[in-house]
Amino acid sequence: MRLLFAEDDRVSRRRLAAVLRKWGYEVIEVQDGNQAWEVLLTAAAPQLAILDWMMPGMDGPEVCRRVRQLRREPYIYVLLLTAKAQKEDVVAGLESGADDYLTKPVDIHELQVRLRAGRRILELQEKLIVMREELRMQATRDALTGLWNRAAIFDLLRRETARAQRGEIPLSIAMADVDHFKRVNDVYGHLIGDIVLQEVARRVQAALRPYDEVGRYGGEELLLIFPQCNAQQAVHVAERLRRRVAATPIVTPEGEIVVTLSVGVAPYGGGADAQMLLRAADEALYRAKQQGRNCVVLYPGPQLPAEAAAL
Ligand code: GH3
Ligand code: MG
Ligand code: MG
Ligand code: MG
Repeated sequence: MRLLFAEDDRVSRRRLAAVLRKWGYEVIEVQDGNQAWEVLLTAAAPQLAILDWMMPGMDGPEVCRRVRQLRREPYIYVLLLTAKAQKEDVVAGLESGADDYLTKPVDIHELQVRLRAGRRILELQEKLIVMREELRMQATRDALTGLWNRAAIFDLLRRETARAQRGEIPLSIAMADVDHFKRVNDVYGHLIGDIVLQEVARRVQAALRPYDEVGRYGGEELLLIFPQCNAQQAVHVAERLRRRVAATPIVTPEGEIVVTLSVGVAPYGGGADAQMLLRAADEALYRAKQQGRNCVVLYPGPQLPAEAAAL
């Protein structure tokens, strides 16, 4: 494990650094607070730091205060070395955000134990971060397809609609629905239906541009958001993903299954909100189904529904 060791006294720095290396630490030695700060600022900063209290330039507590102000992850565990053993000094040192302190002259065995405690804290911290990311995934991703879930894609839709309302960017959305998907379930069973849905999601995602978003809006319905896209561009992308899905049968344990998508595209028009856009895309999707499925329909077509006509 990498470790920063900041100590201005050359002799004791060399001595302790040698011991630390013997314990297996990869030691970065610096001789004042400014150098320590520079190392800790880098993206690949070590997660363990032993800082002498009294150093030229910034002292140990000051370096520590600055590190804490960065609020960066991963966490940096800081151990202060101090000749001061007065209680109020120690309190001041810990208030700077240091995790622990050792008084000089350093007792080697004590240092070893304190470092071990620090590493345990870092390991716990790492586990917490992993768990937090997992929770975030679970909260925003659809478990079956890995796409955004309904709540997450709707949040994105609201955000993008707000940007479009401010006039920042053009925007289009699309609603895609698997054609006759009930038949897949009826003929092959639900598990195979799930495999088909996963593959449809994968193909759709592969056909999108990096800044497009796709979420599972309902059972076999996907909501797509195309920022920066006018109607024609959105239809173009929608057509590409429709073709991708239909082009090759999906291989499943029960054989190859051909599925197709119907897609309704709705461009943002002045004053629309997220709900109006959704209704427009739904309406276009409905027409795609009526026109025989496996096609892309752009809203508005003829016969505007009253509430979406405001678009
Ligand atoms: P249409 O072309 O009109 O869209 O026909 P459809 O059969 O696809 O339409 P419908 O909405 O009647 O059926 C959708 C089906 O999708 C019904 C439901 O059982 C199935 N479904 C929804 N979610 C899942 C899922 O997570 N897994 C599986 N296997 N099936 C699902
Ligand atoms: Mg010193
Ligand atoms: Mg369907
Ligand atoms: Mg449906």
